[in-house]
Amino acid sequence: MALLAKTSIYQGRPCVHGHGILRYTAGRACIVCAKQHGHRLTARKRVERQVEREASAPMRALLAKERQLRSNRRWAEDNRELKNVRSRKWNSENLFKRRAYESRRRAAKLNATPAWLTREHKKEMIEVYRKSEQLGLTVDHIVPLRGKTVCGLHVPWNLQLLTLSDNSRKNNSLMV
Ligand SMILES: [Zn+2]
Repeated sequence: MALLAKTSIYQGRPCVHGHGILRYTAGRACIVCAKQHGHRLTARKRVERQVEREASAPMRALLAKERQLRSNRRWAEDNRELKNVRSRKWNSENLFKRRAYESRRRAAKLNATPAWLTREHKKEMIEVYRKSEQLGLTVDHIVPLRGKTVCGLHVPWNLQLLTLSDNSRKNNSLMV
């Protein structure tokens, strides 16, 4: 019944694959084509799952992660509006995370993040960013990541909280 409610007899030519004249009311897609498309998708998924099951453990994890990413991307494409609203909300509630992330990216570009940085160190740094937001301060690298004579690292003990005016004064006078 549910299917019937969505269909109608379309009074036009058969579809390009010559499937007769039964079309969905919305979008007027050929019902036979739509069903075959659905079957093809599930067949592809079946093969994907099969490959995943038979792969080695690390490969399996990688494939699963990739599948999840693909599905997330598809969801984002289908729900662009909702996604924008959500990410705006997330960004406004997690400004410090955003700042921490941008800082991390900048540090990565400058090769200023040592490989030996532990998870604890990273947590500690996120905390600094959280505090900076709470107190309305900026996070500053004590030794700048791009100093003239020496380059600092993106590590917890090279971070300090400054007011905006302190920060600009530092940048004007002290060119390490
Ligand atoms: Zn068709």
